[in-house]
Parts: sequence; C-alpha cells; structure tokens
Amino acid sequence: MKSITIRDIRVFVTAPHGNNLVVVKVETSEPELYGLGCATFTWRYKAVVTAIEEYLCPMLKGRSVHDIEDIWQSMMGSSYWRNGPVLNNALSGVDEALWDIKGKLAGMPVYSLFGGKAREGIAVYRHADGNSPQEVEERIYAFMEEGYRFIRCHMGTYGGNFDGSIQKMTHPDNAPSGAYYSTRAYMQSVVKLFDRIRTDIGWNLEIMHDIHERLSLADTLAFVKELEQFKPFFIEDALAPEQVQYFKVLRNQTAVPLAMGELFTHPLEWKTVVQNQWIDFIRCHLSDVGGLTPARKIAAFCEAFQVRTAWHGPNDLSPVGMAAQMHLDLNSPNFGIQEFAGFNEAEQEVFPGCPVVRGGYAYLSDKPGIGVDFDENAAKKYPPIDMDFGWMFSRLEDGTAVRP
Ligand code: MG
Repeated sequence: MKSITIRDIRVFVTAPHGNNLVVVKVETSEPELYGLGCATFTWRYKAVVTAIEEYLCPMLKGRSVHDIEDIWQSMMGSSYWRNGPVLNNALSGVDEALWDIKGKLAGMPVYSLFGGKAREGIAVYRHADGNSPQEVEERIYAFMEEGYRFIRCHMGTYGGNFDGSIQKMTHPDNAPSGAYYSTRAYMQSVVKLFDRIRTDIGWNLEIMHDIHERLSLADTLAFVKELEQFKPFFIEDALAPEQVQYFKVLRNQTAVPLAMGELFTHPLEWKTVVQNQWIDFIRCHLSDVGGLTPARKIAAFCEAFQVRTAWHGPNDLSPVGMAAQMHLDLNSPNFGIQEFAGFNEAEQEVFPGCPVVRGGYAYLSDKPGIGVDFDENAAKKYPPIDMDFGWMFSRLEDGTAVRP
C-alpha cells in the first residue's frame, strides 16, 4: 500500500443555517486528496477549534492516513483526561475525515467499506412545532404531503411554554429573565396535543416526542405512562444522563419505546442502558462520542441487545456529519430511524453533495468517501455568528434554574 501521510489539518467555522458549524479538512501528501469531518459543538466551537489546531494537528502531521483505529486511540489517550464533548468533537472531525479519505482511496462510499447496504434508503423524521395544536397539525400535514411518515411533535418547543404562553405563570419578586416553563402545563399540553393528533389525523402516522430531561422522576413516569395510549414511536430523553438508572423503572412500568443518548459522551453512559435493555433506541450525537469509529462500535454493541439506532440529527450538525452517520444508517442492520432537520439553500451551496430526501427516505450521493464536499469560498459568505443562548437558561415557575 502506497504511503500517504497527513500534510495538514485545517478547521473552518461557517454558519449557513444559523448555527456555527465546525468543519475539519485533513489534507494529505497527495495534492488532490483530502477528507472532511464534522466537529460541530456549536455552543463551544472556539474550544474545539483550539483543541484541533493547537493539539491534534501538531501531533498528527506526518502520520499515515491508513490506520484510522490507531490514530483514534492515540488521539483519545493524548490528553490523559478524556471523553468530554470538546475533545470528542475534535476527534470526530479528524476521524470522519480519515474515513472520507479511505473511501476516496478505495473508490467506494464509506458504507461500502463498512460492509455495504442493509437497506436502500434511510427513513427520516422531521419536527413539527407550533404555538397551538392547530399550528402543529398544519406542520404535520405539510410534512405528510412531502411523504414523511415519522414526525416528532412539540408545542412551544421544549417544555411547552416559554414564559407562560400556554398558561400564565406566577414568578416570585425579582425573578430573573429566562425560558420559563411549568411542568404541569407542559405535560397537559402534550397529552392534549397527542390526543388531538390521533383524533384528527389518525393512526397512520408515527409520532414521537422529546421530554428534553425536563421532568422529575415521578412526573416522567406518570407522563410516559399517560402517553402510552397514543402509541408513540418513541419518547426521547425521558431522563438526564445522570439519572439513567431510572430507565429500569420506566422499562418495568411502561411499554412506551424509549430513546436516549444525544447528551452521552462517555461509554459508561450507554453501556449500562443498552446491556440491560432499558432503552429501545440509541441516539448519540456522533461527533460528541468521537466520530464514526466509536459510533460503529456502539451500533454493533446495540445490535447484540436489540437496541436500534436513531442518531441525533439537529441543525447543529454539518451536512458532512449528517452524511457520515447516514453511511452508518445504511449499513447497520439495527438501524431504526434518522432525525433530519433539512438543508437550506445556503448549506447546499457550501456543502455540495448533501444527501437528498424523497418520499420520507434519505439518499446519499454515492460518491467515494462521505460524498459531501466543502466550498471554502462559499463558506466565507456565512461567517461565524453570535448565537442566541436564551433558550438554554431554562427556569421553573418559581425561578429555579434547570437544565435546558
Ligand atoms: Mg433530543
């Protein structure tokens, strides 16, 4: 095998969709050969850029591009302390770029390197949100028109009501500003929404919901049991990663399929819930666990326990990262569903070769490697932006700060 080495690693930040995306480009000793990876931790992107430019790039220059496993293991151990979202994202950018390079060298799409397709298209789900059940239903009908059959349904985004839009809340004197919500009003609003969807639209539609780890353990159990009558495809993030042992209680008391994992960054977080079969869907954010190399192993581990994949697919994920996980979706026998936020025109301009969706299924470009390119000049038109952190400062009705 011809010796090919890493010549340079460059990092770009661009915001064509209103989120700062971190794109890693690994350039090689072959002038035309490079790979792209996603290192997007949009809320701390400068820290990721520093980790790559100041630590990984000097360490990896001159290394062979062929030995992805060795490079991943070396990167993971190189800071001694490990497994956090900043460092995992830095690893992911390099890791996915090396898989991209390997595919280009082989003349194959990455899924083919993994062993080929287990299916022809990737079923995706969209988000329907609105300020009233009617608005949510209008969004659902619009998605159904486009051929989508899986819809995540929310009203007033996470928690159901920012600052009392659904039910007027009473805060104590001098309560700070924030994204307030009432757990009781939130739970009632979702039950009403699901009831209305099943009454108006019927049962020929898969619906899901994201609790976003916003409830107490007792409320979570009561809420999930109440939603069971509407037969959701899954309920997401019922608990915080720090409380995963309580999935045992949920599993024992409800038949609702449970999806968990976008906040996971450490193997102990997913090993326990998977090997005990307390969840039904694993939905890690690929760059937050370190890229394709660890994600392939997570998928295989889950397969052994009949846990299906539903990788995290929000807007704060570059099209390179979305396509990378879609290669895994195509290959994994235990693929379940792929979250998908859509690509706007600016993203498609910056990232030629974005996956396309027809009839509720996503398809990859089938070019060698990950199959998505990066137009550096187009990206300059969408420089990094100051993002709105407001929704993260969540508070309960009495002003107590809670996780977003
Ligand atoms: Mg979620």
